[in-house]
Amino acid sequence: MMTDDELRAILTDRIADVRRRIAAACASVGRDRADVTLIAVTKTVSIRVAALLPELGVPDLGENRPQELWKKAAAIPAANWHLIGHLQRNKIDRTVPLVALLHSVDSERLLDALSAFGDKSGRRIPVLLEVNCSREPAKGGFAPAELPAFDRFPGVEVRGLMTMAAYSDDPETARPAFAELRALRGPLPILSMGMSNDFEVAIQEGATHVRVGTALFDGLGVE
Ligand SMILES: *Cc1c(COP(=O)(O)O)cnc(C)c1O
Repeated sequence: MMTDDELRAILTDRIADVRRRIAAACASVGRDRADVTLIAVTKTVSIRVAALLPELGVPDLGENRPQELWKKAAAIPAANWHLIGHLQRNKIDRTVPLVALLHSVDSERLLDALSAFGDKSGRRIPVLLEVNCSREPAKGGFAPAELPAFDRFPGVEVRGLMTMAAYSDDPETARPAFAELRALRGPLPILSMGMSNDFEVAIQEGATHVRVGTALFDGLGVE
């Protein structure tokens, strides 16, 4: 087991490396570094490891499973929590109050239920719509041609779009999916796209939020 100081040293290096890569990708297309938010995806690590991120300057944390988010958000309430995986409707009440942004709204049924929850709680729920740009049948999300009209869901605020590219060793393979998401965005402010192996390409295509797990936490799942 590493000490907290050993973990801090490793994470400090990895955060610096990811930040350098983000800055270089921004510079390569003339974007402002401040327009890209790094979300550390903590799904493979313990509360102990995840809790170090805000103190090391990364306040935005993401989880893909609601139950795991409940646990980590209770232990690390100062972080801005992002749900980046599927949300079942029966978990809305418990999850939405903990979350700064829901990235993965993937059906009209879920939008309806979130809108009702927003009406009931007197605020509009900030969400992104997940779009299946890679057209993999096993993946969730709206088909690019089937995004719903947002005004049908007055209790939610659609702030942008999210996608996951198909996994590939070559990040260039992901570029068309990212370009497609950007084309669908219209005036929406947020594009959540890019993971450890493809976030530079995503930034070149306009990502405002990148979701990075492995590049920060590889090998630390046992800590
Ligand atoms: C796990 C996950 C990530 C992070 O992926 P890495 O390749 O480990 O950086 C990003 N987005 C979603 C939706 C995820 O589930």
